[in-house]
Amino acid sequence: MAEQLLIAGEWVPAASGQVSETFDPASGTRLAEFAEAGSADVDAAVAAARTAYEDPAWRDLSPDARGRLLWKVADLIERDAAALAELETRDQGMPIALTTNVNVTLAAQVFRYYAGWATKIEGKLSQVSVPDTLHYTRREPLGVVGLITPWNFPFAIAAWKLAPALATGNTVVLKPAEQTPLSTLKLGALCLEAGIPAGVVNVLTGGPEVGRALVAHRGVNKISFTGSTEVGQQIAGVAAADLKRVSLELGGKAPSIITRGADIDAAVAGNLQGALFNTGQACGAYTRFYVDAKRHDEFTEKIAAAAQTLKIGPGLDFDTVLGPLVSQEQLDRVAGYVAGGVEQGAQLVTGGRRASGAGLDDGYFFTPTVFSGVRDDMTIAREEIFGPVLSVFSYDDEDEVVARANDTDFGLAAVLWTQDLTSAHRLAARIHAGTVFVNQLPLIDPGAPWGGFGLSGWGREMGTYALDEFTETKGVWVNLAR
Ligand code: NAD
Repeated sequence: MAEQLLIAGEWVPAASGQVSETFDPASGTRLAEFAEAGSADVDAAVAAARTAYEDPAWRDLSPDARGRLLWKVADLIERDAAALAELETRDQGMPIALTTNVNVTLAAQVFRYYAGWATKIEGKLSQVSVPDTLHYTRREPLGVVGLITPWNFPFAIAAWKLAPALATGNTVVLKPAEQTPLSTLKLGALCLEAGIPAGVVNVLTGGPEVGRALVAHRGVNKISFTGSTEVGQQIAGVAAADLKRVSLELGGKAPSIITRGADIDAAVAGNLQGALFNTGQACGAYTRFYVDAKRHDEFTEKIAAAAQTLKIGPGLDFDTVLGPLVSQEQLDRVAGYVAGGVEQGAQLVTGGRRASGAGLDDGYFFTPTVFSGVRDDMTIAREEIFGPVLSVFSYDDEDEVVARANDTDFGLAAVLWTQDLTSAHRLAARIHAGTVFVNQLPLIDPGAPWGGFGLSGWGREMGTYALDEFTETKGVWVNLAR
């Protein structure tokens, strides 16, 4: 039977009866069917979320009780961690080591982090100059929020939106990507099992139409979206009609600056992982490698040689480092970018083709690809590829590399490889990006803000930043004069 929608605490088919399919990217075979929601289901889910928002069972729940519910969800995620990791790997393709150690682990960690915050959402006493007056602020939930997620880290991203939305007292309609709906449905089930009241968390599966209907819906107070820049721009346009609150975590094209004094072996190892985790399908993936001219050849040779040793295979094999791309469409897209790079004159150092061999022929596998001699104006240097494709550039001085690294519409993440403290901090200040890593893999932690400059989006997730994103400030004036 097809997986169903979660509306008002019940599992139901789509009103239209429509279903869609999700595929195992390692084999190209059908994995499951799921309900394809339509506008009637969006209406029902938003109505359920509104009813739940106004119900004292949720509205008047103490912060302590809300925090306990979130903590319970974290416990349940850990109880089911192995099954969740396997489901995520089957649906998304990413190596089981990654779903186990990062995706599912981070989801539990995020729920615990925001469980703690539920009791610490405070207003302020305001210093107004009006005599005999008390003024204070309250942080209040927004109401019904729509959470729309992409296919690259489905479970973790759903969790890192859902936990702060609930900690601040909102109710939610959550829509996972059509390529990877399964783990998010399980997250909905765990919320119910934890005792979160019916209607507080609703899950709608389906394609872009479901997202569009949610964004346009007048009963939704905020959209928190992670996905492509193009769709983010559309959402901002539609949300303007009712000035719905919007936060957007969009694409990236992270530069990696490898300075003359960098530890090249550490830079090779770190950049390889930073570029290729989840087969490069990561918004923070390192993609543009600016190497000091004196170290360029050494770096290029070493990273290309290391890339060739990585084990490509199905995500369920524990020794797999590079799993398949998520879909045939993504495979075609990546192959198209690589062909474009060759056509525009970049030098293909390694990779550049679909991976083949035992167990690989039916899945969406692609070889890790390194280009050198890339010009800043080439398409592979400018657009987000979202695949295992690295471009190496050479630079001569710091001002030049800062200008070139910043010559992008994106600004999500960047990384610096240097052993010189002063250059590390100088460069960190000069790079336009929401996050700068120094001698570091691209990490995500509930305590650290995540989000981007420019076309990489609006707002920040994680930390106290997410609490601000999911609340409004209300000022209260009280006349104390007798
Ligand atoms: P996408 O934008 O195509 O889809 C994302 C989600 O939006 C899906 O659930 C989809 O069904 C829905 N959607 C599509 N069109 C819509 C519309 N018009 N209105 C409302 N919803 C709509 O993105 P994707 O291909 O699933 O994911 C890859 C993208 O996500 C990459 O660009 C990547 O950089 C970005 N991403 C960003 C971050 C971040 O934190 N900045 C994290 C992960 C992924």
